Amino acid sequence: MSRVPVILSIAGSDCSGGAGMQADIKTSIALGTYCTTVVTAVTAQNFKGVKGVEYVGEKMLRLQLRSILDSIFPDAIKIGMIPCLEAAEIIKEYIESYGLTNIIVDPVITATAGGSLSNETLDSTFEIARLLYPLSTLLTPNIPEIRRLSKTNVQISSESVRELMDEYGIKNLLLKGGHSESPVCEDILYLNNGDIIAYTSPRIDSQHTHGTGCTLSTAIACGLANDKSLEDSVAQAKYIITAAIKNGAEYPVFPEYGPVHQQPPITLSRICAQGRASLP
Ligand code: PLP
Repeated sequence: MSRVPVILSIAGSDCSGGAGMQADIKTSIALGTYCTTVVTAVTAQNFKGVKGVEYVGEKMLRLQLRSILDSIFPDAIKIGMIPCLEAAEIIKEYIESYGLTNIIVDPVITATAGGSLSNETLDSTFEIARLLYPLSTLLTPNIPEIRRLSKTNVQISSESVRELMDEYGIKNLLLKGGHSESPVCEDILYLNNGDIIAYTSPRIDSQHTHGTGCTLSTAIACGLANDKSLEDSVAQAKYIITAAIKNGAEYPVFPEYGPVHQQPPITLSRICAQGRASLP
């Protein structure tokens, strides 16, 4: 009997339900994948900002990882908020000792609603990067995140992306174009073999984008868990996030700004059939 594909989300909890682990679970359900979770931090936030963050301690982090990995081995992993260096060290240890693969790392640094999700220094951000990025199948930075990692404020070129990949031993990198000024939203996949693939969607004018990064990275993990190639998983995830942003704009939770909505596939296919988004 075949079993349902399983992903593991290693992420922070967002009590507003829009981003973090909550977004990962909703995305996974929408894609028919079972989602196990290891919570790294509990955040208190709403759509106006982050009010507080508490890290999960070493003992509890280890216990969650061991409980899951000893019983429900994940087909793919999504790593989101890593609140401190110690958490990164523990996660690296478990990835290596359990031989985990298909790892998508979303380099979460600040919350969409405003406010830092970590009180770590910039130096420890780079140390976390050195520990975890070489273990990842794919890193999914947005433009502010890649600028921070590249220590630059100027426009990011293909050369600077490749330099960053070499510096941190990143195998594949998806540079998300959501923060660009362009009238279309272009995400660019830089592959290990030197190939570059662009995924383009119309830019949707919306303030309801809380959870976009989490949704995209989890949707890619779900694709890998379903034995899709990385290229096809990114194409599927691009479709899902475009539909989820559209849903968030059309059915807002909060009037001014708020989360994207990951809908069940049946709704996604209806949106597609209506020609509002195109399938990969
Ligand atoms: N993880 C947590 C716990 C968060 O609270 C947030 C944003 O608020 C994120 C990740 C990143 O969210 P987004 O998907 O909007 O980039």
